[in-house]
Amino acid sequence: MRLLQFPRGLPEALEDDVLPLNRHRLSKPWLLAPYFPLSELSVASVIMMADSANSTPLESYPAIVVRAALDVRGLSGSLSRLCFAVGVGLLTCISVGSASSDVLFVLDWPVACDLGQTCFVQNYVDHGQSQSGEAKDFRCGSRTYANHDGTDIRLTDAQAETDGVAVLAAAAGRVTRKRDGVDDISIRSPGQPPVAGKECGNGLVIDHTDGWSTQYCHLKKGSVSVEPGDFVRSGDPIGKVGLSGNTEVPHLHLTVRHKGIIVDPFAYGQPTNACSGGRLLWIGRVADSFQYTEREIINFGFAGVVATMENIESGAVRKQTPNRKSSELVAYVRAIGLQKSDEQFISIRGPDGQLFSGSGIPSLSTNKAEFFVSTGRRLTRPDWPQGSYEATYSVSNNGAQVLIKTFGMKIDQ
Ligand SMILES: [Zn+2]
Repeated sequence: MRLLQFPRGLPEALEDDVLPLNRHRLSKPWLLAPYFPLSELSVASVIMMADSANSTPLESYPAIVVRAALDVRGLSGSLSRLCFAVGVGLLTCISVGSASSDVLFVLDWPVACDLGQTCFVQNYVDHGQSQSGEAKDFRCGSRTYANHDGTDIRLTDAQAETDGVAVLAAAAGRVTRKRDGVDDISIRSPGQPPVAGKECGNGLVIDHTDGWSTQYCHLKKGSVSVEPGDFVRSGDPIGKVGLSGNTEVPHLHLTVRHKGIIVDPFAYGQPTNACSGGRLLWIGRVADSFQYTEREIINFGFAGVVATMENIESGAVRKQTPNRKSSELVAYVRAIGLQKSDEQFISIRGPDGQLFSGSGIPSLSTNKAEFFVSTGRRLTRPDWPQGSYEATYSVSNNGAQVLIKTFGMKIDQ
């Protein structure tokens, strides 16, 4: 992940460096949860017991149960095939329902987090240059950078990474490559060893069916819990979100490929240079709740200390809620995807309904991958007035309001 600290125009370090290819014997030759060429399917689950077609006794493979997934709504077409692995890695497909050429590969969300709540997409796949010459995402927005070949799923702060957030297999498949042992350290930290050739950091690649594969990068050192040759089911934990390789904030970089070609899981099949169209490859519960926004707030709150980018990123500010005697009373917001000409304003109203504090940020001269603002006052009296405080953060661009958020807190006795 690259934020704005990098000068424009530098050749991008790709995060999809080739992980060492390992060829191990298959160590867990049991079941793949299914690959789903399906849609318009609103089944809760389909459970099938499959006696292996080969000579392997069923009892040797307790997991020869194909759990078919799950609440895939809002997609067109119909289920045509259900594929699963039996025995020693053989892929078996059965026909289900009417055949369809509209085969769709479905991905589950690859991080144990709630999109828009406890994690956010920082960067989408680069779809080429916009008219202004900048990289553009699948909606022709700025939530990407040049040559970015995957989706960056960012945690709220470093404390979340320390607490541990699982990376999950996005679909069933076989692990083909793995790297672990790279330190978790921001590329902005002094003394960070060179990441050339190891941009992905700790990671792995999973091969699925029909030429689909997924690559997971920047995992926490020592967390990769699968080995080349392992079969995984969709949703299986495979590691933890970390800070290894070419990254400055904890996040998962997920690259999806089909027959070696980069695919944007938010816009599969979108025509070149279009700003709409394409399909979400995400499973229904993700697809249903997903909403693309140009700008997004990832942290907000009140603090009893001065808010800084450092204590927001470390998570320390979250533990410093104001009380009657706190040295400061501050409201803060960190947003991503802010754009050139955005004007921001943040204010607090006190218990008496009057303006307690306010701060404006002049029009931005460039797009900002992330930005934080705060406003507040230092305690110069015996204590803060009791009651409810309300903060409002708003962004406007050329006179039009493009984002607003209000949040509150209470100071008790
Ligand atoms: Zn990335």
